[in-house]
Amino acid sequence: MSRLALVLNSGSSSVKFQLVDPDRDATEPPYASGLVERIGEDNGTIVLKFDGEKIEDVEPIADHADGLDKAFALMDAHGCGPHSVDIAAVGHRVVHGGKLFSGPELIDDQIVEMIRDLIPLAPLHNPANIVGIEVARQLLPEVPHVAVFDTGFFHDMPPAAALYPLDAAVAAEHNIRRYGFHGTSHEYVSRQVPGLLGKPAAEVNQITLHLGNGCSAAAVRGGQAVDTSMGLTPLAGLMMGTRTGDIDPGIIFHLYRQGLSIDEIDDLCNRRSGLKGVSGVNDFRVLQERMDNADQDAWAAYQMYVHQLRRYIGSYMLILGRLDAIAFTAGVGENHVGIRRDSMAALENFGIRIDPERNAAPNDGPRFISTEDSAVKVLVVPTNEELAIARYAMAYAA
Ligand code: AMP
Repeated sequence: MSRLALVLNSGSSSVKFQLVDPDRDATEPPYASGLVERIGEDNGTIVLKFDGEKIEDVEPIADHADGLDKAFALMDAHGCGPHSVDIAAVGHRVVHGGKLFSGPELIDDQIVEMIRDLIPLAPLHNPANIVGIEVARQLLPEVPHVAVFDTGFFHDMPPAAALYPLDAAVAAEHNIRRYGFHGTSHEYVSRQVPGLLGKPAAEVNQITLHLGNGCSAAAVRGGQAVDTSMGLTPLAGLMMGTRTGDIDPGIIFHLYRQGLSIDEIDDLCNRRSGLKGVSGVNDFRVLQERMDNADQDAWAAYQMYVHQLRRYIGSYMLILGRLDAIAFTAGVGENHVGIRRDSMAALENFGIRIDPERNAAPNDGPRFISTEDSAVKVLVVPTNEELAIARYAMAYAA
C-alpha cells in the first residue's frame, strides 16, 4: 500500500478533501476524494468518492471538527480512512500568504499565528483555512501538516509589477500590493511546459492562463513569475464566472455615492458580475448552450471574456519580450475549444498559429494545439492543484 497525502481545502462552511498518492500519474483520479458541505446546518452533507463509488451521508454537522471527524469515520467505514490507510502528511491549501510566505511551510503554532496575522488581507478565506488546519492537526497529530499558499509563486515578482501606484505610506501601512492567486496552478503548469518543449526551464518564457470559475493569467520568465492578473484580492484581472475582473475603481465610489452599501458592492463585484452578471449564467457549458441558441447576452459575455483575455495576453507578450509558449489550463482552458481558438485568432503576425484539428481533438493530457511552424507554442496543460499540494506535503513526511 502506498503512502498517501491528505489534501484539505477548508472554506467557511465546507471542506474539500483528497487522498492522493503523490507518485501517481497526474491523469489518474485521486485515491479518494470528497466534500463536507453545509457545516453548521442540520442537513450537513458528506460526499465520499472511493473505489468507483459515490457515498453520500446527510446529517447535522456542528462545526469543522465534527465534519472532518465524520468524514474520517465514513472513510474508515469504506476502508480509506486514517485507520485504514497510511496517511503520511497533510497538505493544506491556504489562500493568502501575504509577504510572509514564498513557498510551502511545515506548520507549527507559530506558522498558524502568522497565517492569522494575514486575516485582514483575506478576511473570508484565511480564517476558514486556519480552522481546517487546527482541526486536522488535532485529528492527525502524528504526521506533518504543510501549508501551501495560493500566493507563494508570485511572492518574488519585480516591484514594478507587484506595487500599486498608491501613496507609498498608505500602501505600506495596509500591505497593499499585488499578491496574485492560483499560484499553485500556475507553478504546476509552468513547470511542465519546458519539458514539453524540450528546453531547459531557465530558457522558457511563457504565459499561463488559468481559466476556471476564477480566472487568472501569469507571465513567467525562466520559471519565475514576473506578472499576474489577480491583485491584492482575487477580484482583479480577467473577467470570471461571477467576478468582474478589472473595472474602473471609480465605479465603486460611484455606486457607493449612489446609495449601495460596501457589502452590496462587494457582493455585486464578486458574486453577481462577470459572465453571470452579463448573461445570467456563470457555467461555461450553459453559456455555450445559450450561445448555440443565439442568446445575445451570452454572446456579449463571451466576447467580453475573449477581449479581456487578449488584452492580458498582449500585454504579457510585451512584458516578456520574447515568448516561447502559452499554456491553457483549468475547467474552461482545458475543455473549451472556442475560447482557445478565439483568444488566439489572427495572431499569426505575432508568431502564434493554432492548428484547428489539434485544438478540437479530445484529449485529457498535456498537448500542443499550435501548428508545427508556430513560433510560439500553444499548449493545453491540465492543472492538478491537489497533486501539487500532496507532493509539497509529502516532502516533509518521515
Ligand atoms: P474550474 O474552476 O477549473 O473547476 O472550472 C469551472 C469552469 O469550467 C466552469 O465554468 C465550467 O463550466 C467549465 N467547464 C468544465 N468542463 C467544461 C467542458 N467540458 N466544456 C466547457 N467548459 C467546461
